[in-house]
Amino acid sequence: MRTRFAPSPTGFLHIGGFRTALFAYLHAKKNGGKFLLRIEDTDRERFVEGGMDNILNSLYWAGIIPDEGVMVEDGKVMQKGKNGPYIQSERLKIYHEYIARLLEEGKAYHCFCSKERLDKLRETQEKNKLPTGYDGYCLNLTSEEIKKKEAAGEKSVIRLKVPKNEQIVIEDMVRGTVKFDTNLIDDQVLLKSDGFPTYHFAVVIDDHLMEITDIIRGEEWLPSTPKHVILYNYFGWKIPNYAHLSLLVNEKKQKLSKRHGDVSVFDFKEKGYLPESLLNFVALLGWNPGDEREIFSLKELEKEFDIKKVGKSASVFDINKLDWMTGQYIKKMSDATLAELILPFLNNSGLCNGISADNSLLMPLAKMCKERMSKLSDIVELSGFIFADFLDYDSDLLIWKKSDLKTTKDNLESLLEFLNEVEIKYWNEKWLQEKIQTWIESNGRTVGEILWPMRVALSGQKNSPGPFEIASVLGKEKTIERIRYAISAL
Ligand code: GLU
Repeated sequence: MRTRFAPSPTGFLHIGGFRTALFAYLHAKKNGGKFLLRIEDTDRERFVEGGMDNILNSLYWAGIIPDEGVMVEDGKVMQKGKNGPYIQSERLKIYHEYIARLLEEGKAYHCFCSKERLDKLRETQEKNKLPTGYDGYCLNLTSEEIKKKEAAGEKSVIRLKVPKNEQIVIEDMVRGTVKFDTNLIDDQVLLKSDGFPTYHFAVVIDDHLMEITDIIRGEEWLPSTPKHVILYNYFGWKIPNYAHLSLLVNEKKQKLSKRHGDVSVFDFKEKGYLPESLLNFVALLGWNPGDEREIFSLKELEKEFDIKKVGKSASVFDINKLDWMTGQYIKKMSDATLAELILPFLNNSGLCNGISADNSLLMPLAKMCKERMSKLSDIVELSGFIFADFLDYDSDLLIWKKSDLKTTKDNLESLLEFLNEVEIKYWNEKWLQEKIQTWIESNGRTVGEILWPMRVALSGQKNSPGPFEIASVLGKEKTIERIRYAISAL
């Protein structure tokens, strides 16, 4: 089995394209096959500089590495495999050879119709509520007529001669049997006047020459499939298996699009979603294992994925689920890994003046925030109070519900004395917790009357992580400073 992902470099890798790539990759891996990446850049008007790099970087970031085709090695884009080149603009000669074959066999024809004529034709068809499409005006030109027009410098395209009164039937792996009436299919342009093939022609030639056995793509390509099947039949080639994936929609059942929010894989990366969680989430858009399980690594998906279990209806992209899933992955991470991942978010946040990877604050900070994060960028909001120079809170908040102002002030003063004595080498969450609790008991005080004001003094918040966690992140100096300030505010 050989599958492929064949994006056009017309912008960023969209989350829908990412799902197509993932499903094609998983289908190949599940069946011990190969996954190939081809770049379809024949539409020069929609070409976007850097588009290919973005697609490759997005796929590699998520761990979807092609076995063949356009790849990245040592940071450089290269092509690997015996069926190359894998970038369509480098294959023009090949397309011309196959076009010549179709022309020779009378399965395609030159069309010299001007844009004006075609526009007019469409207009009339629309006005008369007729199906739009080419009317076969140039279908029967003789070779002399063609030569004459060419000699006069007239430009032509090559069109597919679609057979009449036939039915094309495909067995789609997702959608089941789909039938098409050839009388409703337009004589598709295969080669444009600039010598570039259209998508429809190039895709068939390449999928065949690259020995693709299974084509997985978005359902927007389903209406094009009969044109492709006609070409396979004309060449006498084996028709591949097809799977057309349903659309991705948002909660309002609208098609996902740039207009309705960020949908490129890189936007998700930038927001701090993890490659593992995005991949896991996207795998479940349309596919499920048939039981309750939801957390899958890429390796597990490679074993479990089954294209036959992909549903036909549109899949709803629920960002809350992605948040939840990312949170699950973050919770399972070691503090050290999370510390490393949050560092760039902190350094880009403007909260601090750049901290280095060995900063002793990072690990306790990661540990403190881990349970509350649903993406890496949450660290910015969750740790804002840690980096603040000044906490703006109402001093009444310092007073525990069963205490009063005077007691609170006394308690904070005693606590301050105690903390001042702590040797810096013992300043960590565990030690502070043990010693402060013993100190509370031996002084006949209650946990609430000490720990509540301590926590508020350190966080300035009604709800926050515990006081020992915060103290360990803040370090001795800043902890003392905040408690001192709280005493002065009372
Ligand atoms: N180049 C097409 C795209 O950008 C590929 C369609 C296909 O997979 O056949 O979606």
